Amino acid sequence: MSGRTIAVDFDGTVTEMDLLDTIARDFGDPVVYQEVDDGLDEGTMPLREVITREFEPVTAPLEEVVQWELDNVRVRDGFRDFVELAREQGWRLVIVSSGFHELIEPILEREGVDVELHANRVDPSTDGWRVQWVYDATCDSCGESCKRSIVQELAGDDELVYIGDGYSDRCAAEASDKVFATRGLADYLDEKGISYERFDDFHDVVRGLAA
Ligand SMILES: [Mg+2]
Ligand SMILES: [Zn+2]
Repeated sequence: MSGRTIAVDFDGTVTEMDLLDTIARDFGDPVVYQEVDDGLDEGTMPLREVITREFEPVTAPLEEVVQWELDNVRVRDGFRDFVELAREQGWRLVIVSSGFHELIEPILEREGVDVELHANRVDPSTDGWRVQWVYDATCDSCGESCKRSIVQELAGDDELVYIGDGYSDRCAAEASDKVFATRGLADYLDEKGISYERFDDFHDVVRGLAA
């Protein structure tokens, strides 16, 4: 291995709350949100369809949603130190998200960090937000429109470290050399007997990477 690439999920990982979920529920239609979320939990609806459908009823102007998130969304402690450490060490750090550039960039700007970002885009039309998906339709391993192939491509021959919290991180985490997990992703890896380090904030991650 030549170096180290660190792929980090955004929603619920860099941020304390999952803002995609919260925006879909609070700015969209809570009934649609519940239906697609149940579909994801029960394994009857693919992630891509879940995200596409839960954003269709969102009609608020982008600026309004961005203002809401700037007022309400917090990043986990230590994120800036973590970005700084990666820069010092020459590690490639990439945020890999099923969310949207349009919602992620304002948060990164507010935090004063410049991080490579791989994410979907959204056309925030006032007759319903349309998701412009950038991930392959079906992953060979999980069948979802998944982050696995992109994180592998980004890492190349590097050691691959993955940091995540949820459903969309499962397959990419399984393909990684080292994993930091919390919440649903940690539960899933426990169930599967896959080893990982648990984190609550980025101070934990920094300690784990230094060890
Ligand atoms: Mg997440
Ligand atoms: Zn996959």
